[in-house]
Amino acid sequence: MRKSTQAIHTAYQQPDAYRSLSMPVYHAAAYEFEDATVMADAFCGRIDRPDYSRVTNPTVTYFEKKVAELTGAATVTALNSGMAAISNALMAVAAAGRNVVTSRHLFGNTYALLAKTLQRFGVEARFCDLTQVDEVRAAVDEGTCCIFLEIITNPQMEVADLSALAEVAHAHGIPLIADTTVIPFTCFSARELGVDVEIVSSTKYLSGGATSIGGLIIDYGTCPDFGHTVKSELLFNLGAYMTPHVAYMQNLGLETLEVRYAKQAENALALAQRLCTLPEIRRVNYVGLPDNPYHALAVKQFGPTAGAMLTIDLADRDACFRFINRLQLIHRATNLFDNRSLAIHPASTIFGLFTDAQRRAMDVLDTTVRLSVGLEDVEDLFEDIRQAVQG
Ligand SMILES: *Cc1c(COP(=O)(O)O)cnc(C)c1O
Repeated sequence: MRKSTQAIHTAYQQPDAYRSLSMPVYHAAAYEFEDATVMADAFCGRIDRPDYSRVTNPTVTYFEKKVAELTGAATVTALNSGMAAISNALMAVAAAGRNVVTSRHLFGNTYALLAKTLQRFGVEARFCDLTQVDEVRAAVDEGTCCIFLEIITNPQMEVADLSALAEVAHAHGIPLIADTTVIPFTCFSARELGVDVEIVSSTKYLSGGATSIGGLIIDYGTCPDFGHTVKSELLFNLGAYMTPHVAYMQNLGLETLEVRYAKQAENALALAQRLCTLPEIRRVNYVGLPDNPYHALAVKQFGPTAGAMLTIDLADRDACFRFINRLQLIHRATNLFDNRSLAIHPASTIFGLFTDAQRRAMDVLDTTVRLSVGLEDVEDLFEDIRQAVQG
């Protein structure tokens, strides 16, 4: 089966009492056993039977299975947010006295998790420029537990060479962990680029129009004990497993992912091209534009589409605020890859509580507005942006 077929036709366990066409939502906390031996076997993982929904639930398992079949992963774990996926993955590899080599160009909460929360537990974050492989090689030492990155950073829109970073990681016997939220895993193979563990905020494209919060750890089985630690230790002890109703909605979202993404990526490219014609916009930053410095690398790694997120730079912060206030169609909201288009000024919101110095170090500019492009007609989106910058 090709991916769009598989996204719909992955089978779930039969027989179902009512021959339900879609996977039922098992809104149950616990499951009954016929005898004590089966119960012991289920609890000790000797047989595959759900026991308690903090660690396993048939609806969530079905969603995980579908993602595993689409990606070729060894194990997939669904969690209750993208941040839960990131924190669980990092806690599977990190320990006091060890370090994570990463970039300052990170999603705000991921940066704070590394710079603040994990630091309290004795894990050091080593920030470097991941586009400079020599700098990364120099930062990695015997205490490094992983290299962590985002495939297209937000809002800087930087792309690092995954194969080159995988080579550095694997030479030290450590995994390359990549947050791939911005390009769906149905479009490219992170594993073929050397990524050992892929993290996705399924809140974004997968949820099918911002229906719910979720995250995925997609483990390719190349890092010894990683999948086992997540499933047999962290799910039990941290308790951040996805809930069945969310798995149901995100599974529905996954069924329409390819068609929605194709339209959103096409809209983003068409909009980026047209925004370049507006003199009020100083810069349009989208890796799908041929003159973008990361264009060739992005095409090589992720294929012909470049996602549905772009940024524009205006004269200053006031111009950004005036622009956002004048928008009539595009919504003033955080989040990415909703069905509707969204605009936000990252410096004053997502990064609003960071100091000026921190924002400077992260290259988060006062002049930048981030746009998440939805499924609307691109003419309407262009008209809204044109009237808002020129008004
Ligand atoms: C949204 C996002 C996250 C966090 O995901 P939540 O589901 O909001 O917890 C992490 N990384 C990236 C790149 C994101 O866009």
